[in-house]
Amino acid sequence: MGLQMPKYLTSLTDIISLMDFLSEVSTLYRVEEGPEFRLVASNLTAQLTGAGSKNLYGKLLKEIVPKDDYRDIIFPFFEQAAATQKVCRFHHKPPFPGSADVMDVLLSPVVENDECTHIWVITKQRRSTDELEHIAFHDVLTGVPNRRFFLQRLNKSITRYQQHQMKFALMLIDCDHFKQINDSMGHDIGDQLIKQVAARLKECIGETDFVARLGGDEFIILIEEWQIEETVLKIADRILLKLQEPWNIQDYSLDLTSSIGISMINQPHDVESILSFADKALYNAKSIGRNTYVLYQE
Ligand code: GH3
Ligand code: MG
Repeated sequence: MGLQMPKYLTSLTDIISLMDFLSEVSTLYRVEEGPEFRLVASNLTAQLTGAGSKNLYGKLLKEIVPKDDYRDIIFPFFEQAAATQKVCRFHHKPPFPGSADVMDVLLSPVVENDECTHIWVITKQRRSTDELEHIAFHDVLTGVPNRRFFLQRLNKSITRYQQHQMKFALMLIDCDHFKQINDSMGHDIGDQLIKQVAARLKECIGETDFVARLGGDEFIILIEEWQIEETVLKIADRILLKLQEPWNIQDYSLDLTSSIGISMINQPHDVESILSFADKALYNAKSIGRNTYVLYQE
């Protein structure tokens, strides 16, 4: 069943203002005699061509897209939307250079006095299942695994411990006085610093170790090994030193220290307890003056 334009979106001016707020490519075509469809507004013209800022305003749809695509796919859907005055959707692989992905296209007719005067087009990149999975399990800012991914890994480590007594440790790392960086340098610089912290943490760990961003300025590292005690303390020292090296961000040189709470698992515990041990250790590291690590001992 087709959807009608919502009643409150009656004016073209409303639609054009709304288009600016959409992250998806959004364009507006005027329906002319024929029918022909003329581009009259867009929020991201450059993405329509994939070729920079070529001005497409005022051009007919058939002048913008390749002939075959227009005839076989695009025109029939536009014509249908204009004739039925109902929203229609289709997917399409755009022919523009550099746009290899399939796009989901939504055509929404704008109806005034029972006549379809414009077609509002919203285009969104269709993501593969792999991509969606990656997004669901990774932190957007830093690209490292997120809390959800970490919890999955932690559960696996708990199982391996139960089955094979494979020891593991968690290191909860929290930057010291990060709010001051945001306050004095601005949130954007803060964001870039968080990204670089993630990158440095990755440099400090082994290939099989796992680092995730739990949120804010807090990261967690999971290390699984037979000789866990020695490895973990070495890594903790390495991290404290590495994060103290100066940070160069947009011509600024910044200083940062961090505190680490370590929970070493030598006997069976559930997820909540293991996390709370690391949390307590981190709290102690902060209380005794920061820029240090504390190992949680039961
Ligand atoms: P402490 O030494 O006790 O850790 O104090 P802190 O200032 O680092 O504060 P805390 O760890 O409690 O909180 C982290 C702060 O980081 C809170 C918020 O101001 C900031 N923050 C959280 N998420 C982000 C983010 O995504 N980007 C930026 N730039 N800042 C963030
Ligand atoms: Mg902090």
